[in-house]
Amino acid sequence: MTDKSPVRMTPRRRVVLEELRSLKTHPTADELYRRVRERMPRTSLGTVYRSLRILAEDGRIRVFERGGLPRRFDGDVSGHYHIECVECGDVVDLPADRFGNIEKRVQDLCGYTVVGHRVGFTGVCPRCARKRRRRGTRV
Ligand SMILES: [Zn+2]
Ligand SMILES: [Zn+2]
Repeated sequence: MTDKSPVRMTPRRRVVLEELRSLKTHPTADELYRRVRERMPRTSLGTVYRSLRILAEDGRIRVFERGGLPRRFDGDVSGHYHIECVECGDVVDLPADRFGNIEKRVQDLCGYTVVGHRVGFTGVCPRCARKRRRRGTRV
């Protein structure tokens, strides 16, 4: 996109990125902060936030924003889809190859040369669905 120089990887940013990549749970900044602190005890939450913002701007990580819920982060930027729980904000991976060749199908539908796509799913996770049932609310 732009020709700005790549982000400088400070040791702390590298640790943030490594810890995030080691997790498959799409953690919040708080969760990540606790892990980073174990390796670099003098890290502040503010530093972790700043590192995450910079890594996201640089396209090295993905950010999930849901109004009112803490942001979640993904260190895996390879092609895969997500489903997010509308109740608790939990994010789970869905392998893109299970959805067939979406871009080809869209191209056939509209004649565009498809160069990319974004797909995201929302739902109610099994845990929240159980809670709802206990409260007697319908899903
Ligand atoms: Zn949930
Ligand atoms: Zn993911």
